[in-house]
Amino acid sequence: MKHFYPTYYREFRCIAADCPDSCCQGWDVVIDSETEHFYNSVQGEFGEKLREAIYTDPDGDRVFLLADEKKCPFWGADRLCDIYRELGKEHLCDTCAQFPRITMDYTTFTEHTLALACPEAARLILSADDAYVGFVDTDCESCEEYDADVMRFLLTVRARAAMLLTQPIPLAERFEKLRSFAAEAQRELTGEVVEYEPLSPDVFEKLEFIDESNREWIVLAAKAEPDLSHKEAELTRLGLYWLYRYLLDAIEPYDLISPIRFLIDSVGIVGSMAQKSGDVITAAQTYSKEIEQSYENMEKMRESQTSPNMS
Ligand code: SF4
Repeated sequence: MKHFYPTYYREFRCIAADCPDSCCQGWDVVIDSETEHFYNSVQGEFGEKLREAIYTDPDGDRVFLLADEKKCPFWGADRLCDIYRELGKEHLCDTCAQFPRITMDYTTFTEHTLALACPEAARLILSADDAYVGFVDTDCESCEEYDADVMRFLLTVRARAAMLLTQPIPLAERFEKLRSFAAEAQRELTGEVVEYEPLSPDVFEKLEFIDESNREWIVLAAKAEPDLSHKEAELTRLGLYWLYRYLLDAIEPYDLISPIRFLIDSVGIVGSMAQKSGDVITAAQTYSKEIEQSYENMEKMRESQTSPNMS
C-alpha cells in the first residue's frame, strides 16, 4: 500500500496552550472502547472524574459531557489537557490522539492530510507551496471496492484541475476554467450534461454554529459577491487543499461536480470573510470548524445542492 503525504503533514506540532482556538472546545469527544476500558481501570479521584464525565449521546457514541461554553471537562485553566498531564499522551482517546490528522484510505493507496479546522494546521496548509508534489496522479491498482479505470480517470482529472488552479492568471478566471473543465469531465464520466449551479447562500442561514458570533460573518460572506482579488496565493492553496481532500470522493456517486462546487464556493466565501478580517488563515479555519467539520452542516449543504442538475 502506497501512502502519500502533503509536505506540511510532518511539520505539524500541536501548539497546545498557544492555540488561538482549540479542538478542546466546541466538539463532542467520542471515546473509543479500548480507551474507555482503560479509563474504567484508573483509580482514585481522577478515575472517578473520568467515569463521571462519560455518557452515551443520542447517536449511541460514548462521549465526554462538555462543560460550560462547550469545553472539554479535561481542558485545564492553563489550556492544557488534564488527561495528558495525569495519564500521559498514550492514554488520550483516538479522537484526541489523531486530530487534526486525516487518513483517506482508497484501498490500494492512502492519502493523508490535516484538518483545516485546527489553527496550526491551517497555518501550515495555507503557507505551503507545492504541497502535493509526488501524489499519485494516474496510477492505481485494481481492487474490489471500486472501478480502477474510474479512479484513474479521477486521478487524471484531479491532476489537470490542480494545473488549472495554479495557472498564472487571476483566480476568478482560473475558477471559470475549472467550472467548464468539471462539466466536461462529468460528461465524459457519466455522459450527462451538467448545468452548473452555485450553492444558494440561503442554506447558510439554516446551519448550526458552534460559536453563534461566527454566523453573521459566514452568512454575510456567503451572500456577498465572492472576493478573490486579494491574497490569491493563500486562496489558491486553499482551493488545492479542498481539491485533494474531496475530489476522489467522486468514486462513490460518480459526481465530481459537487466537490468542485464546494471548493469554488467555499474559497469565494473565505475570500469575502478574509476581506472583513484581513486574514485568510483565521477565515479558513473558522469556516472549516463551523461548516466543514460538521457532518450535519455538510449534509444540509449537500441536500441544498442535491446532485448536479443533469439532463
Ligand atoms: S486545534 Fe490544533 S493546535 Fe489547537 S489544541 Fe487542537 S490540535 Fe493543538
